[in-house]
Amino acid sequence: MQTAIATQDYRLPPERVPETLVETLSRDERDEYIHQLKQLLREQNAVLVAHYYTDPDLQLLADETGGYVSDSLDMARFGHESDADTLIVCGVRFMGETAKILNPEKRVLMPDLQADCSLDLGCPIDEFNAFCNLYPDHTVVVYANTSAAVKARADWMVTSGSAVDVVRYLVDNGEKILWAPDRYLGEYVQEQSGADMVLWQGSCIVHEEFKGRELAELKQQYPEARVLVHPESPAPVIAQADVVSSTTGIIKAAGELEADTFIVATDRGIFYKMQQAAPHKTFIEAPTAGRGATCKSCGHCPWMAMNSLTKLLAILKSGENEIVVDEDIIERARLPIKRLLDFAARRKQAIYGNNDA
Ligand code: SF4
Repeated sequence: MQTAIATQDYRLPPERVPETLVETLSRDERDEYIHQLKQLLREQNAVLVAHYYTDPDLQLLADETGGYVSDSLDMARFGHESDADTLIVCGVRFMGETAKILNPEKRVLMPDLQADCSLDLGCPIDEFNAFCNLYPDHTVVVYANTSAAVKARADWMVTSGSAVDVVRYLVDNGEKILWAPDRYLGEYVQEQSGADMVLWQGSCIVHEEFKGRELAELKQQYPEARVLVHPESPAPVIAQADVVSSTTGIIKAAGELEADTFIVATDRGIFYKMQQAAPHKTFIEAPTAGRGATCKSCGHCPWMAMNSLTKLLAILKSGENEIVVDEDIIERARLPIKRLLDFAARRKQAIYGNNDA
């Protein structure tokens, strides 16, 4: 089968990528903030749902207050099952939107509304719509890392853990696929499924920085290590993986595989949960271009890093930063998400916990 590539490059240029700034608090400040946050969450019947890539203190706070740490769809699912009135989403904007789409009756707040994603930013709805119009006979499949408006234009939404299965199912039904926005995940899905696909040319600025040649050198230093790779990474990195999987799959593999040492090609925020899953094992970051080169993200997402205890405290006090999604968009965006959930239910497959970033 063939893969057609959209000619325009939608990877985010470096000048649109913010610096990765991680909050530093004194021990006393941190403890005081956490104390206040626990009280405010209780008083407001609010629950904290945090992504694996956020600061360990936020993940810890979610764990200790009856909240949840996972990936975006699972975060939204948890919010739906929770009887909290307010969901506080520590992650990036499309995660807040997905939480709102699946929980329109709830208030959804985020610590920083500027926390975005290069995949989402690199797929503006007007241009995406025009791209879809060029291929009216293709089924439009989008990754979870897209805006609500882009989801509303799609036939299917998929996660990194479900993408291959869904596309194989569509291929079996004779469908051609328009894929967006991540080019590397699209290439991986195409290679695994043999689908006839056209690919939008976006990328994750964090995973794109992992380097194949440097990874090969690191493997020589640690020949016993197993390599765990997220499929948003470039093909030369994926080619060296022992396991290619979603965030949840990577954490699971760390716990289940017999190796003691792992080289991990995804955002280093995941190490918090990996160390919980396998406390006696060693995790090494896969090599990136390095701070002196073009890499601003260097293994940690600058938008995920915008979530902090200070900002969380501020929005719980002010009630600001509410996620608002147009009702019409909510209705339309729910359809491709529901298709995925129904597909998973038919296959008795766990889609929750298989999503990405
Ligand atoms: S790590 Fe990549 S895919 Fe995840 S939010 Fe950041 S830019 Fe987007």
